[in-house]
Amino acid sequence: MASIFSKIAAGEIPSYRVASDDRYYAFLDINPVAPGHVLVIPRKEVSYIFDLDNEDYIGLQMMAKRVAKAMKAVMPCERIGVAVIGLEVPHTHIHLIPITNEGDMNFANKLSLDPKEMEEIAARISAEYDRQNA
Ligand code: 5GP
Repeated sequence: MASIFSKIAAGEIPSYRVASDDRYYAFLDINPVAPGHVLVIPRKEVSYIFDLDNEDYIGLQMMAKRVAKAMKAVMPCERIGVAVIGLEVPHTHIHLIPITNEGDMNFANKLSLDPKEMEEIAARISAEYDRQNA
């Protein structure tokens, strides 16, 4: 059975998309630890990031880099923090989180933002991603 993230990447379950290509998909985490928290996934369904083959692993990291650069340009933050956890959803994903302080990456403190705000953030990152990668 397809994972929830495969269904999101296929458009079968809605998401706040920020970037995608034929191999990777990036979208807002539904319960962000900070506004602008993005998940980057391979369309290929592999549970554990270190089980990806080298080409898919490097491609995923390159996609995360491009998305992080767009996020940094439009979200108020010092840096984009990176985390891989994967204990909840068994489909490889990289967390990208706008941070200013160490405590901004506290996974025990999840937010639930207004859909309008989620839409606006996704649109802002997406437009910047398209601008940088035109
Ligand atoms: P992890 O597997 O890395 O422990 O956590 C999975 C992450 O995916 C969590 O931060 C959670 O909020 C997010 N998540 C789980 N289900 C969905 C979903 O259906 N849509 C979105 N956008 N994010 C999800």
